[in-house]
Amino acid sequence: MISNNLLTVAYIVASAFFILSLGGLSNPETSRRGNLFGIIGMIIAVAATAFSAQVSGTGYGILVATLVIGSIIGAVLAARVAMTSMPELVAVLHSFVGLAAVLVGIASHLEHKTFASPTEKTIHEIEVFIGVFIGAITFTGSIIAFGKLRAIISSKPLMLPARHWLNLIMILVCVFLGYQFLTAENALTPLLIMTGIAAVLGVHLVMAIGGGDMPVVVSMLNSYSGWAAAAAGFMLSNDLLIVTGALVGSSGAILSAIMCKAMNRSFISVIAGGFGTDSSSPSGQTPQEPQGEVTPISVEETVHLLKSARHVIIVPGYGMAVAQAQHAVAEITKKLRERKIEVRFGIHPVAGRLPGHMNVLLAEAKVPYDIVLEMDEINEDFPETDVVLVIGANDTVNPSALDDPSSPIAGMPVLEVWKAAFTIVMKRGMASGYAGVENPLFFKENTRMLFGDAKKNVDAILAELIR
Ligand code: NDP
Repeated sequence: MISNNLLTVAYIVASAFFILSLGGLSNPETSRRGNLFGIIGMIIAVAATAFSAQVSGTGYGILVATLVIGSIIGAVLAARVAMTSMPELVAVLHSFVGLAAVLVGIASHLEHKTFASPTEKTIHEIEVFIGVFIGAITFTGSIIAFGKLRAIISSKPLMLPARHWLNLIMILVCVFLGYQFLTAENALTPLLIMTGIAAVLGVHLVMAIGGGDMPVVVSMLNSYSGWAAAAAGFMLSNDLLIVTGALVGSSGAILSAIMCKAMNRSFISVIAGGFGTDSSSPSGQTPQEPQGEVTPISVEETVHLLKSARHVIIVPGYGMAVAQAQHAVAEITKKLRERKIEVRFGIHPVAGRLPGHMNVLLAEAKVPYDIVLEMDEINEDFPETDVVLVIGANDTVNPSALDDPSSPIAGMPVLEVWKAAFTIVMKRGMASGYAGVENPLFFKENTRMLFGDAKKNVDAILAELIR
């Protein structure tokens, strides 16, 4: 067993590793190191807690059993999950954190601890109440997010009449229950009723958000799960859990703010739930249906256009991830660059299904970092570009976001690929993207559609290029 002093030192070291880990994860080049720091920090944290004075006797049996079961479930899930399903896994993991905060809170209340002063008791009860409130919202909100990402639940937002009033009433009732909880002796009932209401609030907040706005929800729930963990840390008087929870909570909040900015959405309206719209628009008008005909292109013609281009931009999206086409795309890039053709990648902040999804895939395929540019860095270069290859992207290259105020994705900045001389869109058919919105890009005069699975087509392009 280790002394309390040593435990504190171990927790400080683990916290430092977590901070280094976050620092590392902010850049693709250092992200592996960041992950390693996180793993080391977690090993130190778990080992120090296991050998602390808080665990003894039968506690070891329970600890080892839960650790083994949890590790096996985690390892199997992580090994099995496809990269494209990662947000779903993350949503489920957030729900576990929320549930844990609820259970810790209720258990902590049932423990009937003795306190040095009434103030200390009140502070503890506030911690319990807030922790359970955030935990319950995170728990059910994350389950709904999982359902939406999995398409078990429709991605269309649920627009109940007077929904904001409904949220406000639920919050006010929770505040009233909080008052009862603090003033009554051993008031389990208000705590449990509040848990139920917070759970309904979590469902309602996320049900109201739809389509393309889900990325913000996922990162927001990430932030909530951090605050729920921090609250559990206060209840358990565990400094490391407080620090770790605060790190997750604040980094999740920063990420949400960045994503809101990228999607031109207001942070406050996300927290209030439901800035997404249904198939109708914020303005209540019906979105315009794209008109015209599409012009298909063959692999040979695509290669001809590429070979005669001087500047090429590749815009990957979710379809490239599904098709696992990134390695062949990296090879095509190499071949074109050998021909002295400038090739760069344009990455939309919400391309794919998780933040940084495209960056991870391209890094895995060893595409040099310096030719992978963010939307803001490359968006002005499309007019001087000869050929844009859109590989499995759809919502992130949809011009209606800019020129159709009635579109459900109106206001979201997009990669303005249609400004290039030629835009070749690679996808299997005419299906819409995640947000379920029609895309007028496909009907533009300078757009060519290369239909088929992205992997099959990039392989064919590569074969034609080296022929
Ligand atoms: P989209 O989801 O808009 O479109 C992807 C396109 O890929 C589809 O239209 C599909 O068309 C095509 N596709 C699918 N499979 C293949 C395949 N095997 N080969 C070729 N094409 C394929 O992708 P984007 O990346 O442009 O946009 C991401 C969307 O996801 C945004 O709406 C974003 O808000 C949302 N989102 C993003 C998250 C994030 O954190 N990044 C998280 C959650 C949601 P077809 O079926 O015709 O082939």
